[in-house]
Amino acid sequence: MIPYGRQHITQLDIDRVLEVLQSDFLTQGPKVPEFEAAVAKHINADYAIAVNSATSALHIACLALDLGPGDYLWTSPITFVASANVGIYCGAKVDFVDIDPDTFNMCPNALASKLEKAAKSGTLPKVVVPVAMCGQSCEMEAIRKLSYQYNFKIVEDASHAIGASYKDKFVGGGEYADITVFSFHPVKIITTAEGGIAATQSDKLAQKMSRLRSHGITRDISQMLGDSDGPWYYEQIELGYNYRMTELQAALGVSQISRLDTYVAERSARASVYQSALAHLPIDLPVQLESTSSAWHLYIIRLKDKTRHRAIFEALRAANIGVNLHYIPVHLQPFYRKLGFKPGDFPIAEDYYSRAISIPLYPTMKDADQEIVVEALEQLLK
Ligand SMILES: *Cc1c(COP(=O)(O)O)cnc(C)c1O
Repeated sequence: MIPYGRQHITQLDIDRVLEVLQSDFLTQGPKVPEFEAAVAKHINADYAIAVNSATSALHIACLALDLGPGDYLWTSPITFVASANVGIYCGAKVDFVDIDPDTFNMCPNALASKLEKAAKSGTLPKVVVPVAMCGQSCEMEAIRKLSYQYNFKIVEDASHAIGASYKDKFVGGGEYADITVFSFHPVKIITTAEGGIAATQSDKLAQKMSRLRSHGITRDISQMLGDSDGPWYYEQIELGYNYRMTELQAALGVSQISRLDTYVAERSARASVYQSALAHLPIDLPVQLESTSSAWHLYIIRLKDKTRHRAIFEALRAANIGVNLHYIPVHLQPFYRKLGFKPGDFPIAEDYYSRAISIPLYPTMKDADQEIVVEALEQLLK
């Protein structure tokens, strides 16, 4: 099976992880800060807080922005469920903003008109979570403007987008989001097996997120409410979690990030091959905005004839091509239907779902494998 995505692990990665296994620290040692510094430097952020998953990063990001009961979190219906679930973790209500049909990202115009209505009914969101689908940044300038106008915070779910850029700056540099989250799950651009990072320019948010990932505990005297009893002293000043990344994961991350630019370039080259090789078929290809440069986490085609969607998907799988579908609209999941969402609520997302197929794309993909994918699509669609 040619997979839709796959990690790339080198001997150097393995050596770095083995060194940690033989060292003094398996957790809470020097590697996590080293990885955080490497990510922060790469994307030009002041702070990066490493945790055990992007889901945890989204959760502590929302908590740091005081999302709680009575508040709303808005996100895109075309995302992994975690982008919405973290709102529920915080006790907030979740709602969705329909996507732009070309980019599959939250549509700024749909956001603007939903905000206008919410302002009248007193249901404005406290946090909006735009998702950089496939590694292409959302139109963050427009979303940032709306955030000042309607007074909400932005947690950018850039799980797909480390190494991507927007208006010539790396995603996560802090100009357009209060906090930006990346995932290091094995199918993403670089991996730590499981892992995530929350990047921010705010020292206050960074301090708060560092506490929240480790039980709400601080050892920094300047953050303490009382006086220190001695060198052993620490204070729990709020309720946090154990969301820490291990030293093994961080060592893998440090090794992987040295190849980030190469990975993005290789993905981008593969994507260009698809863009021209598939152009003559009855499908819609992913549209790229001038302001963005994608990390190409996913390559998603949409069939013009949705009646053949399932048959073509099944035929590709039968031909050993590991296609996938990202994503089932979150509002149609049984959990969210129970909260009152229903088919028809976000028609552009639902139309997308009826036509979309993620085809294989990863840095070590062989030319011959990409040709197999192209030929299979030609045979099925011509
Ligand atoms: C992968 C992913 C997540 C969750 O990341 P984990 O590291 O697996 O927790 C969240 N949002 C999006 C858009 C993702 O693709």
